[in-house]
Amino acid sequence: QTETGRARIEEAIAAGYAAAQATGGGKNADYIPFLASVPPDLLAVAVVTAEGQVFKTGDADYAFAIESISKVFTLALVMEAIGASAVHEKLGADPTGLPFNSVIALELHQGKPLSPLVNAGAIAAASLVAGSDAESCWASILDNQSRFAGRPIALSPEVNSSEQATNFHNRAIAWLLYSAGTCYSDPMRAVDVYTRQCSTLVTTVDLATMGATLASGGVNPVTKERVIAGDHVAPILAEMMMEGLYTSSGDWAFNVGLPAKSGVGGGILAVVPGKLAIAAFAPPLDDAGNSVRGQVAVAKVAEILGYNLFRP
Ligand code: GLN
Repeated sequence: QTETGRARIEEAIAAGYAAAQATGGGKNADYIPFLASVPPDLLAVAVVTAEGQVFKTGDADYAFAIESISKVFTLALVMEAIGASAVHEKLGADPTGLPFNSVIALELHQGKPLSPLVNAGAIAAASLVAGSDAESCWASILDNQSRFAGRPIALSPEVNSSEQATNFHNRAIAWLLYSAGTCYSDPMRAVDVYTRQCSTLVTTVDLATMGATLASGGVNPVTKERVIAGDHVAPILAEMMMEGLYTSSGDWAFNVGLPAKSGVGGGILAVVPGKLAIAAFAPPLDDAGNSVRGQVAVAKVAEILGYNLFRP
């Protein structure tokens, strides 16, 4: 970035932060006990460019649970292992139009998950991670998240035990998949691994770096390591555009026009292919499970920088 480019991004994240700070509403996720206890006033915005420049403001070094944003990276890992067309065939690429943990889409489609970015498809994705047991699958998921972030990512034992003790609904989803032949490992192993992948701690800067690795065609722009094949970026971003914000994915596409992914920990990440990634963190969520202030911040940054994939 030139000096003016840097100044524009700094101005944009400051404006995104201010717009988010002026927005109220929403409520921390409370179905996972740990998430209910996170201070709701935390707020951070970060941008990492495809050249590896880092911009941040607010609580950008506060580490929070990655939750559903992890689905993007396990999808990427599985795509490396089995290829894009097998992912498309097994996990789908359509929006469900239903809440992230709905079982109804499974019932309507003979147990085939429609998207790897809702719980059913993400648990099926976790079941496709190669490994002889849960520990070896988990090791490759953690290594993959770390390579996207450019630093060692770690599990929060606190978040993980809170989720493992309460994930009955996800276990039911795994058994439904298994009965339909669409869970490709022991179902309880798949949920165990999926629950752990949601329980790692990331900062807003980590999220933006993970997104920038997609923005720069699969190479982490900070460490310069190739993390995934360049050809896999477009289908991953397509999945994010279709289902990244659950039942408000269409609203987000209409208003912002960028592939994005949210998590119930309060994180949100958007990718501008070839340019940069924008991440934000603020715990209170809307009814769809997306960070209220995080959406405002990311949308504002994108608007100020003039990024919308659908704008000619
Ligand atoms: N671990 C959470 C769950 O499976 C993740 C959900 C989310 O972030 N939307 O319920």
